Amino acid sequence: MSTRLEELAREASACTKCRLSAGRTQVVFADGSPDADLMFIGEGPGYHEDIQGLPFVGAAGQLLNRLLGEIGMRREEVRITNVVLCRPPGNRDPLPDEIDACKPYLMEHVDLVDPLIVCTLGNFATRVILERPVAISKVRGQRQVWRGRIVIPTFHPAAILRGGGDASRTMQQIREDFATIRATLEEARAAGGGPMAEEQLGLF
Ligand code: URA
Repeated sequence: MSTRLEELAREASACTKCRLSAGRTQVVFADGSPDADLMFIGEGPGYHEDIQGLPFVGAAGQLLNRLLGEIGMRREEVRITNVVLCRPPGNRDPLPDEIDACKPYLMEHVDLVDPLIVCTLGNFATRVILERPVAISKVRGQRQVWRGRIVIPTFHPAAILRGGGDASRTMQQIREDFATIRATLEEARAAGGGPMAEEQLGLF
């Protein structure tokens, strides 16, 4: 881990920039490789993440691990973090000022890991990264370019766990999006790992 990444995690661990610091057990900074080619951004820690200090270790995390396995990847080789690093009370949605307070950590975290692909999980992460009020259902699985990086949004795994009539369709769509991530990763690695031209991504 780069010294600055360790420092950033240390700074975040003592953060009191927003009200979420009052209710947390601990700051949940990240899991996985600091040199990952693929970085996932979720919404915020839940009960289990707050207790264990690691992102995506509850039911949504089990599903994320399974989806990774299906594309031949292990959790240890990717980077995982969240839009907010402290658990919102009762797992409510993070508020705009909480997201803003945490945003500098997220931006520097992405820059330091410097992944080839960022996968945003759900509306919150997708909107924070793309800086537009997009709907995840409209942009999922579509390769975007953000600050010279490839972003592939998909549904949050919790959308499956909530069940309901559309859960199996949503699961199918997430699987398709993970297959896109895998294929894009191969392309980006074959292109030498540098930023890919937008034409290469088929965006035009
Ligand atoms: N949901 C998230 O968005 N992040 C976690 O870390 C766990 C569940």
